[in-house]
Amino acid sequence: MTQSRRIDRCIFCGADGAIIELKREHIIPFALGGQDTLLEASCGACEDITKKIEDYCCRRMFGDVRVHLKMPSRHKKNSKRTHLPIEVDTDAGMEKGDVPVTDHPGMLCTFAYDLPTILLGIPPTDQIAGRVVMKPLAEDFRERVIKQGGKGVTIPMNHDAEMYA
Ligand SMILES: [Zn+2]
Repeated sequence: MTQSRRIDRCIFCGADGAIIELKREHIIPFALGGQDTLLEASCGACEDITKKIEDYCCRRMFGDVRVHLKMPSRHKKNSKRTHLPIEVDTDAGMEKGDVPVTDHPGMLCTFAYDLPTILLGIPPTDQIAGRVVMKPLAEDFRERVIKQGGKGVTIPMNHDAEMYA
């Protein structure tokens, strides 16, 4: 069940909805399957900033993962993708190609931040703590890797380490 709540104030900068036009804000981005929204909750300037971050994360970093998980897309090109990139390590070297999503051994790779220290009652620091998380996207991940042949596979990912800092 989709839920919405009216805010009448920009949740990012506090701009007043009586003075400036405010727009709807998804609590979890639509591109990640979020349906619940906050109405009249973000001003144009803040929306421009959050949209750039969401586009970068949802399209560049997690675009292939979203295809694997059949997440929604407002871009027809992305919603029609049936193949994903892979590199297979063969005796002749690395062979690049695209395979059907149903055969692709998708992998989610991301950085999982530790809880903010302030939530643990510890004074804030400038240290960033967490760990790299890798999670197969299909229960038959191993079988999908074997099906590609070769000595192993590489799943291309578009992550910039600076984005996590
Ligand atoms: Zn704002």
